[in-house]
Amino acid sequence: MKTNGNMWNDKGIWLKGNTHTHTTHSDGACTPGEIASEYKRHGYDFVFLTDHEKRTVPDEAIRKPLLIPAEEIAFSYKGYDYHFVCLGLKKEWASGSFHSPMQVFARARREGVFIVQAHPYWCGTPSHKCVYQGGLTCPGVEVYNKVCDRGIAKGYSSVHWDDLLDTGHRILGFAADDTHSRSDIAGGWIMVKARNRTPDAILSAIRNGSFYSSQGPEIKAIVIRGREIKITCSPVMRINFITNRAGGCSISAATPRLKEAAWTVPKGNTYARIELVNVFGKVAWSNPIFF
Ligand SMILES: [Zn+2]
Ligand SMILES: [Zn+2]
Repeated sequence: MKTNGNMWNDKGIWLKGNTHTHTTHSDGACTPGEIASEYKRHGYDFVFLTDHEKRTVPDEAIRKPLLIPAEEIAFSYKGYDYHFVCLGLKKEWASGSFHSPMQVFARARREGVFIVQAHPYWCGTPSHKCVYQGGLTCPGVEVYNKVCDRGIAKGYSSVHWDDLLDTGHRILGFAADDTHSRSDIAGGWIMVKARNRTPDAILSAIRNGSFYSSQGPEIKAIVIRGREIKITCSPVMRINFITNRAGGCSISAATPRLKEAAWTVPKGNTYARIELVNVFGKVAWSNPIFF
């Protein structure tokens, strides 16, 4: 995983996408065609279709945005609920065939599938229950999920993410719509720096951590020199540097005029990540930088 800011200098194109979308093939309100036209209107380049226990393959006539077949798997295990967004699967994972996270990981390893732990806060699954047998975790977690926020105000799983990072798990954060109705669309997305506009290039960039998440603010660059991190961004009210335990630093302004900030991560801290908050309260999340 390459999350040390290198992507800002890498060659490639920025692509906007949603990693968690339901259609009428499960419990979503929109057909794949309607999903495409709605997301196109919002300037998206790609959308992963993640119907429940079903791999939806879109009509080939749909060209923009790129609709990429994927799947969401859900089950209960030892009294807790688990939802996993499975990106990059080439065939449908049979409904009801998974009874433990370890089974999902074993198949993901065999087939090269990237797993994101979906909305753990909404599931009521505490962070230590997101560490599985052998100390395994999903390589990604949803830091923001729009439908969980809209429905019951449990959309933000940033505490889960920090708990896992603090205990040494190198996990990427995703903002996603988990689209069920039209009102979920364009609530949270990822900006991926990919080599080209193909599903393989997008997945490879995701695996490498070459992306950030947002509800609005734009990260222009992150530069790391030693333990100093410098960020440049669209104008925001607040820039938060978040790290282990009680460390960290928050810089705020009375007007949306912050366009850069720098912070030196104290010795002994193992990671730092950055959050931006704009004048509308919309957030952007960098991926963690590890030390
Ligand atoms: Zn779910
Ligand atoms: Zn979902």
